[in-house]
Amino acid sequence: MLPSAKSLSELIARLWRRYGFERVRLMHVCGTHEHTITYHGLRALMPEGLELIPGPGCPVCVTPARVIDEAIRLCLEGVTIYTYGDMYRVPGTQRSLADARREGCRAVVVYGFLDAARLARENRGEAVFLGVGFETTAPTTAAPIARGSVPDNLYVLPSYRLTAPGLNHALRLHRSRGLGIDGVIAPGHVSAIIGAEAWRYLPREYGLPVVVSGFEPEDVLLSIAILLRMIGERRPGLVNEYSRVVKPLGNRAAWRTVMEVYRIVDAYWRGIGVLPESGLLFREKYRAHDAIERYGLDISPSNRELHPACRCGEVSLGLAYPTDCPLFMKACRPGRPIGPCMVSSEGACSIWARYGGWITAASIGGRRGPGRRQRRHRQPG
Ligand code: SF4
Repeated sequence: MLPSAKSLSELIARLWRRYGFERVRLMHVCGTHEHTITYHGLRALMPEGLELIPGPGCPVCVTPARVIDEAIRLCLEGVTIYTYGDMYRVPGTQRSLADARREGCRAVVVYGFLDAARLARENRGEAVFLGVGFETTAPTTAAPIARGSVPDNLYVLPSYRLTAPGLNHALRLHRSRGLGIDGVIAPGHVSAIIGAEAWRYLPREYGLPVVVSGFEPEDVLLSIAILLRMIGERRPGLVNEYSRVVKPLGNRAAWRTVMEVYRIVDAYWRGIGVLPESGLLFREKYRAHDAIERYGLDISPSNRELHPACRCGEVSLGLAYPTDCPLFMKACRPGRPIGPCMVSSEGACSIWARYGGWITAASIGGRRGPGRRQRRHRQPG
């Protein structure tokens, strides 16, 4: 059983004093961690000077606009598009699948790929599943494809991204700007697939302590305490706080299947750029399922990936907080999003908007970020 949040926040305060910290910057790489931190107001429990920075943990936020544009084009040409609720609402260069649906395209929100396969089997017309996510979701398309249980009329438009290249890019950028990251909270869901040991390179190559963390507020607080101890003792290592779910080598069968169906390629991240070996595309053997091949799709970066004022790329890398964006809760709101970070439930802008982060814009000079108590002041539009 996990210790209580009260005892963990007291432990964090004691460690802060014991090691005489003035400033510590911890990055996490998971929208669900940001949700836990913001929803439960964990930043308000942190000592002054301890920053919890949301890193690249939102796959929907970094899905290229052109992928959405091409899905819309196919949809308007009569191909059914199956996708997750978040992707349905994210704008491409000009509009979202939800907008296009009003023009007659058939875009259908599904819970997952098996749902799409069932519907495609019933409906028989040509259909495309928009495959978006990190290592956690890639097995959900890879496994049925490898098993041969996908109907012939269903193709996959893969836009999967890998977490480590995104994190490494963020770490290097922070370091180059003189604001290095002191420790990493690794994503529990992704680690359940790739294994806790996948993060061993962080202490070895970056000299950074890393804790694989669960998603309860107590998990995150305990992970922060473990990181502070490793930083204070100058002994960077890997700790698996989420061992009740994450195994050292993860789900090897699932990841083997992903690597059988997909190959790792350089990939474009919306608002960020091309990151080496950070995406997945079909291997030759499985090209019959590839929507890019079937329809000759162009998924190269467009010259209008984001609204000129949208800072979603910087927000995704932890280089800016949502409240640093001039459009936050003004022109850009959950009900009227301008950038993808305001649409996805894993996007920092959306999470801060929904749970009160915008109220504290002036009060995060100490970089403490939002706390849940602000919710009662006003609900976002
Ligand atoms: S608030 Fe909106 S416009 Fe600003 S960075 Fe976030 S998504 Fe982009």
